[in-house]
Amino acid sequence: MAKNCAKLYVFSAPSGSGKTTIVRDVLKSHPDFVFSISATTRKKRADEKEGVDYFFLSENEFLEKVSKGDFVEWEKFYDYYYGTLKNLVDDNLDKGLSSVFEVDVKGALNIKKHYPNSVLIFIAPPSIQELKERLINRNTETDDDLNKRIERAEMELSFKDRFDYVVSNINLEEAKIEVKKIIEMEILKENI
Ligand code: 5GP
Repeated sequence: MAKNCAKLYVFSAPSGSGKTTIVRDVLKSHPDFVFSISATTRKKRADEKEGVDYFFLSENEFLEKVSKGDFVEWEKFYDYYYGTLKNLVDDNLDKGLSSVFEVDVKGALNIKKHYPNSVLIFIAPPSIQELKERLINRNTETDDDLNKRIERAEMELSFKDRFDYVVSNINLEEAKIEVKKIIEMEILKENI
């Protein structure tokens, strides 16, 4: 029987670091990979779809799942809950499908604790100043949420050395190529 080479590729980065674009590119280059859809209590943005970008839950629904132990990990930040559903991760692993995660730094470290085979990739912004400008230009947050995200970015950056790989997103195209090389290398490792 073929060896199950499914892996967990876990991406973290401060908001506005280009993480979502890079994750989308990974999924485009690897149609056999699946995006691990998290649950959240934050409001759906205009361009997001239920069950595609997130499972959007009420706070009660989320906390019920917490009490049932349905999450591999969960965090509360910016007044909202975010969590990785255990059954989705395990279903994909059982099917032999590699998953791509987009979670915060603490979530990434917790995923690795449960699934030591996970590959943690940190996408670093060129500078905090540039990050602020990207977030302002993105214009998806209120001023209050924006300030919270910037404060959080500084905390997240302090975790980057605990990741398996750190990719600087100074130039988006170069960052995408670097990520592709990391994944190719990880796939090769599994096939040795
Ligand atoms: P956003 O609201 O911009 O979609 O996400 C805010 C933060 O929550 C990002 O850092 C994102 O990676 C993180 N996040 C999304 N899903 C999860 C999750 O399931 N667990 C954790 N710990 N963080 C998550």
